Amino acid sequence: MIMEAHSLYIHIPFCEKRCSYCDFNTYAGINYLIPAYVDAIIKEIEYYGNFLGHQVPVQTIFFGGGTPSLINREYYQKILDNIHKNFDTSAISEISLEANPGTVNLEYLISLQKIGFNRISFGVQSDHPKYLELMGRIHDYQDSILAVEWAKQAGFENLNIDLIYGIPDQTLNEWKQTLDTIERLKTQHVSLYALGIEEGTPLWSWVKDGLVKAPDDDLAASMYDYSKEFLESKNFYAYEISNFAISDAERDYRCLHNLQYWRNQPYLGIGAGAHGYVNNYRIENKCNVPAYIKSFIPENHKPEIFISPGIENYTRIDTFTEMQETLMVGLRLLQEGISIPKFKKRFKKSPLKVFEREFNELLSNRLVEIDENEIITISPDKIMVSNQVFRYFVN
Ligand code: SF4
Repeated sequence: MIMEAHSLYIHIPFCEKRCSYCDFNTYAGINYLIPAYVDAIIKEIEYYGNFLGHQVPVQTIFFGGGTPSLINREYYQKILDNIHKNFDTSAISEISLEANPGTVNLEYLISLQKIGFNRISFGVQSDHPKYLELMGRIHDYQDSILAVEWAKQAGFENLNIDLIYGIPDQTLNEWKQTLDTIERLKTQHVSLYALGIEEGTPLWSWVKDGLVKAPDDDLAASMYDYSKEFLESKNFYAYEISNFAISDAERDYRCLHNLQYWRNQPYLGIGAGAHGYVNNYRIENKCNVPAYIKSFIPENHKPEIFISPGIENYTRIDTFTEMQETLMVGLRLLQEGISIPKFKKRFKKSPLKVFEREFNELLSNRLVEIDENEIITISPDKIMVSNQVFRYFVN
């Protein structure tokens, strides 16, 4: 039997300090829980290994957070050893780690490279002290320069930097200067995110109380348009709305792990608050770190819990929902888009038939286009309003 390849997402919910805009499942001040947490995620890996028969091929592993670079090399060695024991990793192509530039040094990066990591994603976010401070980041721009330099010295040839635009008060000219960072740091991949003002965060309160100006959406759209043009002029390929990679006939630095999500393929989510997509179930783990850890203490096991005791919720995805989700995430891929022949192969139906009314409207409003190879993509001038497209595939 040919098994579908999975990806593994492992969530590391620890940070030195909470950033002002952050609404991720992450906590400061609980680093003392790291040893127990590592034990729990190893147990969860074993649960999945047992459930899936130890033979499922895993092609990519992504440690996200939080701040995965707070975990030491010995723990990663233990975690990776367990993954190799519980899955077929013979064709693994990418092991990625998110890192905060303020938490790494050359020795640490060398040790990660030695145990198999081959991609690092640095949360640089800005080159400007004023915005790093507003966002509550623990690092400065010099830390980012050093971190990327050390990663290169350690032998990493696949590096990403995250940058944030649309920050309150940020001008287009300042953002243009930030983009020059890309030429300075010379990484193979860049992710750009518009700053979201998420309810419940300190930044949200500051904006609500008038202490900080609300970001200007039109200006953020101009920043995105400028960035896309700038990056394309530097040979970066905009393969996803927010993601740009050097990608040509010889080199392809697209993030393979994230492509798995955008192609709506299965992945396992390990750790507190992690999400997964396994055997047509969307799975959500317990967010609370102590509660997640306690689930793996034998006397707390609840046999009725599906697959892993760390799970909080799970939902069966029927075929219609799977088709909707495939369109919604696939259309984020700006060139790959949705191949009608591949969709038909997967679902035995044409998306244009199943979603006839939706596509009639999308095509007549020129929100999407279909080329001669039967690839559906978002129209290039509608990328900034892509939410109008995705809405068609939500119940
Ligand atoms: S480092 Fe990242 S995960 Fe941690 S608080 Fe800041 S934004 Fe959130």
